[in-house]
Amino acid sequence: MMNPFSSLGLGSELVSALTDQGYENPTPIQAAAIPKALAGHDLLAAAQTGTGKTAAFMLPSLERLKRYATSSTSPAMHPVRMLVLTSTRELADQIDQNVQAYIKNLPLRHTVLFGGVNMDKQTADLRAGCEIVVATVGRLLDHVKQKNINLNKVEIVVLDEADRMLDMGFIDDIRKIMQILPKQRQTLLFSATFSPPIRKLAQDFMHTPEMVEVAAQNTTNANVEQHIIAVDALKKRNLLERLIVDLHMNQVIVFCKTKQSVDQVTRDLVRRNIAAQSIHGDKSQQSRLETLNAFKEGTLRVLVATDVAARGLDIAELPFVINYELPTQPEDYVHRIGRTGRAGADGVAISLMDKTEQKM
Ligand code: AMP
Repeated sequence: MMNPFSSLGLGSELVSALTDQGYENPTPIQAAAIPKALAGHDLLAAAQTGTGKTAAFMLPSLERLKRYATSSTSPAMHPVRMLVLTSTRELADQIDQNVQAYIKNLPLRHTVLFGGVNMDKQTADLRAGCEIVVATVGRLLDHVKQKNINLNKVEIVVLDEADRMLDMGFIDDIRKIMQILPKQRQTLLFSATFSPPIRKLAQDFMHTPEMVEVAAQNTTNANVEQHIIAVDALKKRNLLERLIVDLHMNQVIVFCKTKQSVDQVTRDLVRRNIAAQSIHGDKSQQSRLETLNAFKEGTLRVLVATDVAARGLDIAELPFVINYELPTQPEDYVHRIGRTGRAGADGVAISLMDKTEQKM
């Protein structure tokens, strides 16, 4: 029987890398997007994190770029051919790790650019040459200004989480980047929603894009069991500890609304001898990456996070998410509980609701 990814038009180098990753069947967004992108069309795709969207844009692009694969060490043989723009450092890092896994059988080079860390290593990588660059918008523009990167040979550009990037105020920067890219190129835009500004962006920078839409917008994943517990605000701490211990949660993300409560909840858990660490916007990039790695490796039991810090977090088989405080935005709720139940696995999301949170 033919491998389902081969049937979509992907070559053996990618298919065997996917088999090594344990991917057996394409997700709906992959099945819909891969053939269209392989044919060279621009794509407007509606997909949230957790649907397999990264592979949906990376796999056809890598297939199209594989004719450039070369083991030559000359930087001139490795110009930037593909640019992936995304919203946060964590997501950029995540996409880059996926790229690394997918290209294991292809001599193509990749690198990731994000802010908050020194530019030297990134600059050295760019000078050495690499076909695939995953970047956050601000840091990419820094490299453009310093002439560390040449975008003249870009053939494929991806705008990942386009709605998020616009929410974060990157519209002018995105336009700036799009303007310096070659006109002759393929543009793939992925977004959870298609607001008027996204449509305008598509109109201005895309050529008769094909639409790809799979899941309904802003809906939660059916694999995630959702519970809500009404509780006194003062009793949340005890309840949190009881849930973690009694339900034998060995890996759980606890979401809070503010940095202050993140710190407080973390201190409280540690005092109760539960291994917990926090990530939020005030932490250094280095400290965030270390905490995330400890959590991914399973040496850290509880990760306490704000919504922004947890954007793009991708942990395979994370069984539990707890909303210690409810988010004000429905999209944030969807995003939070989407950290569990990834790629068809089961997950449990528990929300602790006090009186003041009922209307949310
Ligand atoms: P994404 O929506 O791109 O963040 O992907 C969510 C998760 O699903 C990642 O951990 C991927 O490695 C995984 N994944 C993507 N496609 C597949 C597939 N076809 N089969 C199994 N896992 C997948």
